[in-house]
Amino acid sequence: MELTKIVCPKCQHKNTNKIFKQVTVDHLEKILNQSLFKFKCRQCGYEALLDYSLQYQDDDKKIVIYYVTNPEELNEVMDLLEDETVICETKGYICRVVCSQEDLIEKINIFNSGRDDRIIEIIKVFFYKQIQNEFQVDAIRYKDNEIQFYYQGFKQGSIPFEDSLYEQVSKQYPNLKQDVRIDFDWAVEAIL
Ligand SMILES: [Zn+2]
Repeated sequence: MELTKIVCPKCQHKNTNKIFKQVTVDHLEKILNQSLFKFKCRQCGYEALLDYSLQYQDDDKKIVIYYVTNPEELNEVMDLLEDETVICETKGYICRVVCSQEDLIEKINIFNSGRDDRIIEIIKVFFYKQIQNEFQVDAIRYKDNEIQFYYQGFKQGSIPFEDSLYEQVSKQYPNLKQDVRIDFDWAVEAIL
């Protein structure tokens, strides 16, 4: 945990805020409901979501997720992941790098439901292809055992997640490579 000074944009009060650079499953709820990133001014009560990079580690599931907020840091983390010491430290761990709080939450949800994010991303691509003519899709997310999609800025739809489809795709792609960036673009390439 670090302490940081935040000047309230509404009343200019100087707040001291806790920020967490290294988090574990102890912080799980606060990440999932984003309260970890919440700022509340002690003087006027103004609330806002902060954004800062952090590292999430789950030693039981052997997962490390680096959340980075800007391109510079993304390069630093990508370099770091090629460092021999870090490779040894994270040996046997699944390593991922994500660039938004939504992606971080989605990754944790996927791993906590015992699923492979590579298979989920491929299913999302298949699903996108099915609905792309009907909807102008902004994003597709795995959440609460559903595939949810967002279109035309604010509208939302969903379909139940099918275990049979998950099994089928897992069998269809048994030799997927590991990568630190597993996202929609990765999946589009992977199924070419
Ligand atoms: Zn304030």
